[in-house]
Amino acid sequence: MMRIFALGLIASITITSMATAHDHSSRATYLGNAGIMVARGDSKILFDAFYANSYGQYALVPGEISNAMLAGEAPYDDVDAIFISHVHGDHFTAEPAIAYLREQKTVHLYGSNQVVDAITNAGVDENDPLMDRIHGFDLNPQDGSEHFSIGALTVDFVAIPHAGNRPTIQNFAWRVTLDEHTTVLHLGDAGTVRADFERHSDHFSSKKTDAAFPPYWFIGNNDGEAILADIIAPKQTVGIHVPARAAGNGDEWRAKAGGDLFTDPGENREISED
Ligand SMILES: [Zn+2]
Ligand SMILES: [Zn+2]
Repeated sequence: MMRIFALGLIASITITSMATAHDHSSRATYLGNAGIMVARGDSKILFDAFYANSYGQYALVPGEISNAMLAGEAPYDDVDAIFISHVHGDHFTAEPAIAYLREQKTVHLYGSNQVVDAITNAGVDENDPLMDRIHGFDLNPQDGSEHFSIGALTVDFVAIPHAGNRPTIQNFAWRVTLDEHTTVLHLGDAGTVRADFERHSDHFSSKKTDAAFPPYWFIGNNDGEAILADIIAPKQTVGIHVPARAAGNGDEWRAKAGGDLFTDPGENREISED
């Protein structure tokens, strides 16, 4: 269509539109299990990206990716914040998180006080400057949402009980808006109990979620799908926490589940903002 214009104009239009696409597109990258990276413009966040336990069935972050993260190599560079859903070993392990924070000295970590305890129990002194970048919260399922901002990130979160009756584990559902534009929701290991979401229906409807990342047991499950459709109403959903054996068979797993799933570490989804 642009070919009717002069060549110089074509070149400048192409460069401009490429720059725009780069600056304003939003992308989610699967790291392993419930670990994802979301980037939009200059904002970049990680969810559940540091953990050491596969429990024999979940994908660990491949060495190639975790080494690049540690070294701050693109596309894993310039991360602003890490959000942790809960302390189970397939979502969080203190040692790799500490190692990362010691290398990447501007990144802040947000989690429950149980996450903070895990970090101090792993040997980080409470007076260590590292602790200034670690932010703990105590929030229970009955509590209202918490809200804070970090630079170009706006964060609202609630506690949603962990699947399978684990009442002592605080599981946070982080909702983060990047660049005042792209809003993503990570559900950790939430169970598909409608009442646990319904009590926060005002919170979920207070802002449009562009992309939700529920554990895969929501996808194709009647209760899980109803929670997504009626209460969260995201524009896009990608299931996470898929067993490692799905890697290489993503299309089959997605077809069987009847929805989108992350299955292969390193794979991406564009997040539509329209
Ligand atoms: Zn868990
Ligand atoms: Zn889990």
